[in-house]
Amino acid sequence: MTVNIDGSGRVVIPKEYREEFNLQPDSKVYLLPSPDGRGLVLFRLTPKCANCGSERELTVIENICLCEECRKLFKYMLNK
Ligand SMILES: [Zn+2]
Repeated sequence: MTVNIDGSGRVVIPKEYREEFNLQPDSKVYLLPSPDGRGLVLFRLTPKCANCGSERELTVIENICLCEECRKLFKYMLNK
């Protein structure tokens, strides 16, 4: 599939790819050179708990993403 780059360097990801890879407006993506150096690869970033890797009930505290269970665990440990 061929897409164009506009004058500001933007590329529109075709709708079928946005749907297939669950790319929503404001989705965070990671862009890096392909291993052969001939192109770019884009990954959707999925927020995860920094402690256990859970993707559910996340809260960001001091720039650290924690799930509810880990947040309660750390709060309990800090208050001991
Ligand atoms: Zn967690």
